[in-house]
Amino acid sequence: MKHKIISLPVTMSFGDIENTVYPTLLWDENNIILVDCGFIGALPVLEKELERLGVSVRQLTGLVLTHHDHDHMGAAAALKRSNPYVKIYASKKEAPYISAQEKPLRLRQAEELQKILPPEQQEFGKAFCEMLRRVEPVEPDVYLNDGQHMEWCGGCRIIATPGHTPGHISLFMEKDSIVITGDAAALEDGKLIIPNPQFTLDMEQAEKSLNKLIDLKAKAYYCYHGGILVP
Ligand SMILES: [Zn+2]
Repeated sequence: MKHKIISLPVTMSFGDIENTVYPTLLWDENNIILVDCGFIGALPVLEKELERLGVSVRQLTGLVLTHHDHDHMGAAAALKRSNPYVKIYASKKEAPYISAQEKPLRLRQAEELQKILPPEQQEFGKAFCEMLRRVEPVEPDVYLNDGQHMEWCGGCRIIATPGHTPGHISLFMEKDSIVITGDAAALEDGKLIIPNPQFTLDMEQAEKSLNKLIDLKAKAYYCYHGGILVP
């Protein structure tokens, strides 16, 4: 079978606001791996999107988490319950926040921000913190290192792309020349940008990481926020 690399839309509604994110499916004869898995409660949506492709959550062999944000790992614990055989991959630096061995940096940031929010934003800030506290931790099974080569879909190189979070990783699918960006780059108005600067923990690193991905001159960029860019 020829391998497939598929950008999978996961849409959820938050009040009046719809938000679509794009996990990527890496599918070859030995592996069915999901890269990031969507918000808290996204498992049923994910299940439906996978069914459309003729695969089920129970067939997944791996889940790569690019970083510990709620929109990327929110459904991870539910997914692991539904398929205990799925191997969870993440960088060693990001692992303590994914497993909540240490307080997630995003929650720390939100709690600090909460102290200085103007009164009219207090309620929103509080709800955001509460949502972050509801993210169920998971234990990574395998650490992925910068430059490491995985036998996925004809070859996958792990690229450390810190900035958004310290242990953020992106994936370069060498055979198809596709970059799976995570939150190291988002697609907006046909351009790769740094997503949500207010959530970027180290802007200088984030800019370096974005340029690292652009310098790969890939044929396509699969962005978690914004979808596919073919430059
Ligand atoms: Zn994100």
